[in-house]
Amino acid sequence: MHSIVTRFAPSPTGLLHLGHAYAARIAHDRARAAQGRFLLRIENIDATRGRAEYEAAILEDLAWLGIGWDGPVRRQSEHLAAYAGVLEALRARGLLYPCFCTRAQIAREVVRSGIAPHGPDGLIYPGTCARLPPEIAVARVAAGAAHCWRLRVRAARRETGPLAYEEEGTGEVACDPLAFGDVVLARKDCPGSYHLCVTHDDLAQGVTLVTRGAELRAATDIHRLLQALMGWPAPRYAHHPLLTDAAGEKLSKRSGALSLRQLRESGVSAAEVLERLDERTTG
Ligand code: GLU
Repeated sequence: MHSIVTRFAPSPTGLLHLGHAYAARIAHDRARAAQGRFLLRIENIDATRGRAEYEAAILEDLAWLGIGWDGPVRRQSEHLAAYAGVLEALRARGLLYPCFCTRAQIAREVVRSGIAPHGPDGLIYPGTCARLPPEIAVARVAAGAAHCWRLRVRAARRETGPLAYEEEGTGEVACDPLAFGDVVLARKDCPGSYHLCVTHDDLAQGVTLVTRGAELRAATDIHRLLQALMGWPAPRYAHHPLLTDAAGEKLSKRSGALSLRQLRESGVSAAEVLERLDERTTG
């Protein structure tokens, strides 16, 4: 049997809080318990929100907690050519189209059509640019018009047929990628979106068990679709519940969760942080 490879994949958009420590520890402990490998990946494709000092803080906070990773840290910003390659392969198969819509235009189109279907990622794209004649789309791209690339989800799903993934403790979970509508696979400023980069990197790093918060469970339906389109083997998944505060709110910077750094500076020890995690999960 192959040994387990897990990963922790934070985005460097802020300081880590208890919720991150919880996610990191699950991935770490699962790998260590099986003499497997635990990898660290910095998901920093969002140049507008990611900051180098947050990346440095992530490494420092994990080291403080005693959560050590194997091998070099992978940074998504260093692999843009690989994402562009995947994109090109899908584009060559006619599965992508450029979308020139701004958020405001999408909102106007939704109002005009009188229907506003929502998927797991929010409003479903109404498909305006999917209907553009190809020669017009090509000319606009050539002229330098700002655009992202969307997946023709329906056509993609027709190619792959029904899909499922393996969730630990649950078994096979059927996927419903159509619920997302035509997702963005490359953003205006980057040849990859979260969905594309995360799926590509889990394969590139040989991850066999993806542990992550339950808020990303629905996204797995899209990730599975991309894996099937590209002929990539699927890892197993273990989505874990999110830590909540006393009011039942998901821990986040916005909900006022203290960062690990604040806890440390206020004199809390790493052992106490780990103890708090145990209390949260068993209590
Ligand atoms: N980078 C994502 C985040 O910080 C997590 C990606 C994943 O685990 O799939 O929310």
